[in-house]
Amino acid sequence: MSGGWFHDTVSALAYSLAAPHAADGPPDFAPPYNDLTAFVLRMHAEMTDYLRTPVLAATLGFDLMGLPRAGRPFHSLPPDLRSKIIDVCKKSPIGSIRDLMRLHESLVTLGLFGRLDELDAPPANRAEVPPPLTPAPGENLTCEIAVIGSGPGGAITACLLAEAGRDVLLIEEGPFYSLESCRPFSLQEMEQKYRNGGVTIAVGKTKIAYVEGRCVGGGSEINSGLYHRTPPDILEEWRSEFDVEGITDSDMLPHFEACERDLSVSLRGDGHPPASLKLHEGALRLGWHSLEVPRWYRRDSTQVGGGRRQSMTETFIPRFLRAGGRLLPLTRVSRLQQRGGEWTIHARGRHTGPLHIATRALFVSAGAVQTPALLRRSGITGHVGDSLRMHPTIKVVARFPDQVSSAGMGVPVHQVKEFAPAFSLGCSISSPAYLAIGMMDHPKYLGEVRHDWQHMANYYAMIRGEGSGTVRPLPGFSDPLVKYRLTGNDHRTLGEALRKLAEVLFACGADALYPSVANSSPLLSRDDLARLPDSLPVGLSNLMTIHLFSSCPMGENRRKAAVNSFGQVHGVKNLFVSDASLLCTPPGVNPQGTVMALAHRNALHYLGKL
Ligand SMILES: Cc1cc2nc3c(=O)[nH]c(=O)nc-3n(C[C@H](O)[C@H](O)[C@H](O)COP(=O)(O)OP(=O)(O)OC[C@H]3O[C@@H](n4cnc5c(N)ncnc54)[C@H](O)[C@@H]3O)c2cc1C
Repeated sequence: MSGGWFHDTVSALAYSLAAPHAADGPPDFAPPYNDLTAFVLRMHAEMTDYLRTPVLAATLGFDLMGLPRAGRPFHSLPPDLRSKIIDVCKKSPIGSIRDLMRLHESLVTLGLFGRLDELDAPPANRAEVPPPLTPAPGENLTCEIAVIGSGPGGAITACLLAEAGRDVLLIEEGPFYSLESCRPFSLQEMEQKYRNGGVTIAVGKTKIAYVEGRCVGGGSEINSGLYHRTPPDILEEWRSEFDVEGITDSDMLPHFEACERDLSVSLRGDGHPPASLKLHEGALRLGWHSLEVPRWYRRDSTQVGGGRRQSMTETFIPRFLRAGGRLLPLTRVSRLQQRGGEWTIHARGRHTGPLHIATRALFVSAGAVQTPALLRRSGITGHVGDSLRMHPTIKVVARFPDQVSSAGMGVPVHQVKEFAPAFSLGCSISSPAYLAIGMMDHPKYLGEVRHDWQHMANYYAMIRGEGSGTVRPLPGFSDPLVKYRLTGNDHRTLGEALRKLAEVLFACGADALYPSVANSSPLLSRDDLARLPDSLPVGLSNLMTIHLFSSCPMGENRRKAAVNSFGQVHGVKNLFVSDASLLCTPPGVNPQGTVMALAHRNALHYLGKL
């Protein structure tokens, strides 16, 4: 790191980008912004490693832009000149300059509005769970079965194998925190439990921001817990196009039921967040199909809120440990090597340094991006990382005359399924920080979040899509390059989905909508729907996703599938994949239910119990 210079430039940027919000805002928005600068610097340090140096260089290059204008670098200019330079850069014809500004602006916005989230936040138990297993530096480990990655795929696999009496080692790159180590959906959670602090991007003509969990329990620790079984027509598509065996609805039923039982999947019934109910009411008014989605949530009258969201650290991880399984957190696997009948895992522990682990069988459950990256880094490439799929999602912030959001309001649970499987509409987390990020394309109106966030909520339109992407490791870097290409149909479907979302939000009483489309203006009535493009503009829509899969599809169709119907890598002995990578195509619904049921099915198949 370049020490003072970079710090000074980031600090100057943070002051300049935050200053407009201090004017008449609550005291939390006032200077000094030292914590904000520290937050932006921490997020920079977490950033995807191949972007870190270019962003550092570009930020320093930006600092020099003050020289021709005022003979001094940006960071030592007076505030009015700084603001002018920022405005010029935001409108620059050069995409990378605009991207740099957007990156800093989103980090500052997140940090600044995250302060509002902290008001009324209950104290969190931030300590990591003491590591269950700490090998001495240089010590080598052996086990019968190693599972890499402890998200839903890995945790369920490891638990069922350990409960069957196998000697299982579960290796996880991230730290081991309890569910209550931080407030759900807070900045602390991003820093503790997200990969790269949540700043990850799939590159393409239209970039798509995505996020992954990196902690014991993986994505299950940070998600909303919305549960769907895999739709039967999707299972049929996998059977017919990928020749997947044992995948009919009735084959999968016992696995869905087991996971639903183990995670207490249930309907909330009442007490829904008002913002979620709004969507439901709007859909009913239009005669559209809308439903409450079940969640993994255990009712418990002794808990604040009447219960507790479930996750892997609440369920399968403790069961795994009770069954005698060994868990190795803070240990990143870099490469796999097969010698004779044995596998050697090359890993590095945060506290132990390089580690070698010998095992007979190996399950890779590192998630849809990291699993193909690890396999390719280990020379295993057949249909690996060539067919990444996701649910591209566009967001809209809606403002209502009445109050729809409040601190700790809970997770919205309604989804509009009228247009499924092509697209679904839903409501998402609407804390001030998330609302402010949703308003990034409407900076003039960001003040509304500051003053009026309780009247605002985030909504999304998520498409099944037909585009696809690739995952490739980059020599010398640990983070892989993810590329994604949306098709023309995807842009059209996103356009249609955005229009339907706007329609339902006006139907439920919204008085202003702010879509995540660059250079768009707010929609103030149904008449404004005519201004929405039929097809979302390439490169100008700010898309995101939290659903990634299909990077190592399963099936007996060797022209398409990386692994067989039960997860074994084609042509490689004792090597299995068990995570979201297996899904042949997008499920069109929240995917964790499918990931869990497949992990359950494949573990039982491995044990000869199917
Ligand atoms: C914010 C968010 C909200 C979501 N909401 C929902 C929802 O409501 N409902 C739903 O169904 N789905 C939801 N999802 C998606 C769901 O969480 C994922 O589909 C699911 O977690 C995928 O499970 P997995 O086992 O494939 O991988 P992951 O959960 O990604 O777990 C992979 C694990 O492997 C570890 N790992 C990776 N590489 C290595 C390595 N080299 N060495 C060691 N360990 C490694 C990672 O740190 C991670 O912990 C959400 C996801 C996110 C991010």
